[in-house]
This record gives sequence, C-alpha cells and structure tokens, in this order.
Amino acid sequence: MILDDDLRLSILEKSGIFSNRLSISEPKVLMSSKEVLEMPKEITVGRRTTAYKYYGVSYMQHNLIFINVKKIPDEKALDDTIAHELVHLRFPYLSHGRRFNKLVRQVLKGKTFPPYQKRKR
Ligand SMILES: [Zn+2]
Repeated sequence: MILDDDLRLSILEKSGIFSNRLSISEPKVLMSSKEVLEMPKEITVGRRTTAYKYYGVSYMQHNLIFINVKKIPDEKALDDTIAHELVHLRFPYLSHGRRFNKLVRQVLKGKTFPPYQKRKR
C-alpha cells in the first residue's frame, strides 16, 4: 500500500480502536523502514535492519509497533497486521499459534478484553 496522509491517519485510528478493545495504552506506530532506522538503536535492537521483511513488528518493551505499509497488499492484511501487533502488546506471554490467531480475529470483530494484570501472588 502507498503511505500517504490519509492512510497514516487511518492506521492511527485503527490502532486507537484496537488498543481500546485490548485495554492497552496506544503504542507509537512506525510506518516505514526509514522510521525504524531513525529510532534509537537500543529500542529496535534485534529487529532493526530485518524489519522490512515483515508485515509488522512489535517492540514490546517500548510500547512501539512497526506496520510495514509498503509491503502490505490490501486493507484486510493491514487490519490483520495492526491487530496482530497489538495482541503481542496485550498478551506478551503468548507466542504465535491457534490461540494467538483467535485473539486477533476477536479483536477485529470488536471483542473487548480487560487490562493485562501481572500475577498477584
Ligand atoms: Zn507476531
């Protein structure tokens, strides 16, 4: 997809809506490989020069996601990618798999989730 001002705004809106559903604070969203490379190295360490290969990357420790707009073919893949990266932020302990994919679908459909709480005892 071509990143212009309208698409940029639309991505931020979606990120805001999905973040609300997941009860997480809205992350900063990088939308081009150039923006990833411009971030301080210690933030993007490990997924910096390789980020362009993926549709999206989450930098969980820094409440930051990268949506690789240029690589994403269409609106559906865009929505999937935004929801996917935000699920990583809400469920940091969960790795990819059926449960993860189900959560992504639920977010897209409008399900809301309570805030993440660390174990109490
Ligand atoms: Zn992932």
